[in-house]
Amino acid sequence: MPVTAAPDLQAIVDRIAGEMAAREDRGKVADYIPGLARVDPRHFGIAVTTHDGKVHAAGDADIAFSIQSVSKVFALTIALGKVGDALWKRVGREPSGNAFNSIVQLEAEHGIPRNPFINAGAIVVSDVVLAGHEPKEAIGEILRFVRDLAGDDGIGIDDEVAKGEAETGFRNTALANYMRSFGNIDHPVDQVLGVYFHQCALAMTCRQLARAGRFLMHEGQHPDTGFNIVSPMRARRINALMMLCGHYDGSGEFAFRVGIPGKSGVGGGILCVVPGIASIAVWSPGLNERGNSTLGSLALERLAAATGWSIFNQREPG
Ligand code: GLN
Repeated sequence: MPVTAAPDLQAIVDRIAGEMAAREDRGKVADYIPGLARVDPRHFGIAVTTHDGKVHAAGDADIAFSIQSVSKVFALTIALGKVGDALWKRVGREPSGNAFNSIVQLEAEHGIPRNPFINAGAIVVSDVVLAGHEPKEAIGEILRFVRDLAGDDGIGIDDEVAKGEAETGFRNTALANYMRSFGNIDHPVDQVLGVYFHQCALAMTCRQLARAGRFLMHEGQHPDTGFNIVSPMRARRINALMMLCGHYDGSGEFAFRVGIPGKSGVGGGILCVVPGIASIAVWSPGLNERGNSTLGSLALERLAAATGWSIFNQREPG
């Protein structure tokens, strides 16, 4: 039995937004591209969508930000839809314990990235999404998919961010070339990265992002249409990957403090899924040393404590 509906979610998110607004320890905004570097670190937003379709939002929940690696969840979902479990021959399902953009494991592990949420794994996923398409079509497919999940055609891609990613993406280019040398990238590296950089540049608000994650709390079903985006088993597995790999080498700490499957991005966003209960997005651009949102993580810790939504909680009987 799920924990009974949280007492007053609006009061909880309002209180969390108030606490976050007052905090000084906000971490460091990603500065490798101008499109991220100029974002004001004082932003904080939160949106919680619950199983009954309600949304509780506070702070800057309606300001769009760069979702960056949170997009890896959506790209993975598309890739699994295309090739199914064959994907797991090319990408692993284990936490890496290394930084998001690390190359060190790839040599010993023959060009097979540890999981789809580190950069190397996400680049393989982009290669799968690209199959049978021109890069522009693949980017369009990802954008349409996210718009459909959120039920919001206002979602777009920030071209300046995408361009910045391409101009500074030396490491991602190295990862892609290295994996190609092992035969684990099928398409030209510049095309694969074109897809990857544009998905990273998706601009969404907390409200849109929380809505886009709803299918993962609904056992894979689109709550607006009733259609299966993925099977219940696949939704469970994507949630499992988010739990174990969604915060890179900070995944253990996030599980310890929050206990909810989540995926972070260097734009400062985090998408969290409480199966059967809620899809949550938070955003605060300041990052900790692992590249995860400092206040976003703290806000989720507060939310989990206030609602009892950690998946490691002992549920109340009946
Ligand atoms: N665009 C970033 C990169 O590829 C995404 C990384 C992230 O959000 N952790 O380096």
